[in-house]
Amino acid sequence: MSIIVENITKLYKAQKALNSVSFTVNENEIVGFLGPNGAGKSTMMKIITCYIPPTDGKVKVCGFDIHDQSLEVRKHIGYLPEHNPLYLDMYVKEFLAFVGGLYKVQNIEKRVKEMIDLTGLQIEQNKKIGALSKGYRQRVGLAQAMIHDPKVLIMDEPTTGLDPNQLEEIRGLIKKLGKEKTVMLSTHIMQEVEAVCDRVIIINHGEIVANDSTQNLKQQKANQIIQVEFDGAIDIKLLEKITGVQQVKKLEGNSYRIIASEEKDIRKDVFNVAVQNNIGVLTLNKEEQKMEDVFKELTKRS
Ligand code: ADP
Ligand code: MG
Repeated sequence: MSIIVENITKLYKAQKALNSVSFTVNENEIVGFLGPNGAGKSTMMKIITCYIPPTDGKVKVCGFDIHDQSLEVRKHIGYLPEHNPLYLDMYVKEFLAFVGGLYKVQNIEKRVKEMIDLTGLQIEQNKKIGALSKGYRQRVGLAQAMIHDPKVLIMDEPTTGLDPNQLEEIRGLIKKLGKEKTVMLSTHIMQEVEAVCDRVIIINHGEIVANDSTQNLKQQKANQIIQVEFDGAIDIKLLEKITGVQQVKKLEGNSYRIIASEEKDIRKDVFNVAVQNNIGVLTLNKEEQKMEDVFKELTKRS
C-alpha cells in the first residue's frame, strides 16, 4: 500500500475542513480525488505531503509516518501544489537543477535532461519560466515534482486553466507517469477522472461520500435512461405502467425520455408495448450514464 490515511481530521480554528477521513491508495494506482470547491481536497493533500499537520489521525506514505518520519515521506513524494507556484525569474533548466539540489539528486545535469525529455520541455528549456505558457509551466511543475524519482505523485488540480490541447497533453503525461508511480490527483473535471483514473474518491464537506471505480459508481448510483421514438402517437400511460418506470417525459414529435430503476433493462418492455398497440419503434437507445450526474447526486447536500 502506497498511501494509508486513517481517521484524519483537520480543524482550521473552529472550522472542520476534514472529518475523520480514511482511505488507501495502492501501488501504481491512479486515484482521482474529487469534490466541490472547499470540500477539503487541498487540505488532505497538504497533510499527506507534510506541508501542514493534521489535528488528529494518521497517514503513512510508503510505510513512513508523516509525523515521525516526515523527511522520509518527502523523499518518496512528488508534489504539484494547487496553482503551481514557480520562480518566474528562473530559467527552466536552472530551476530544475535547483530543485534537484534540494533533494540531493545525484548527477543533476543528467536528471534534469531526463525530466525535460519526459515532460516535453525541449524547445522551452532555455527560457525563463515567466515566459512560458500555462501548459508549459505545468510541465515544469511536473518535472520538479518528479526530479527525485518519487514513488508517489500528488497533484492538486494539475489541469485547471489549460486549453483543450494542453489538457489532453498533460492528461497523457499523467497516464504515462502513472504506469510506474502511485498517482493521486485532485480535479473537478469529470472527463478527466474517467479518462485518467483507475478509481475515484469523492469528498464533500470534509467527508468521503464515495470510493470506487467510475464504472461501478455509475452503475450503483444511476437510473437507466431510455430514449425512444415511435412512428405514431402513444398513450403516455402505457409507458408509465411498465414495471420499474419512474418518469416519462414527452420530447418532440413522438419521442419520449423514460427514467427507470436500474434493476432490469426495460427496452424490451417498451418495444412490446408499442407492438401490442400497433405502433412502430423507430429508435430505442439507452443513454450512457454520466459521472457528472453521479457527482451531483453525491455532493448535493450543502
Ligand atoms: P478544496 O481544495 O477541496 O477546494 P480546501 O482544502 O482548500 O478545499 O479547503 C477546505 C475548507 O477549509 C474550506 O472551507 C476552506 O475555506 C478552509 N481552509 C482551507 N485552508 C484554510 C486556512 N489556511 N485557514 C482557514 N481555513 C482554511
Ligand atoms: Mg483545492
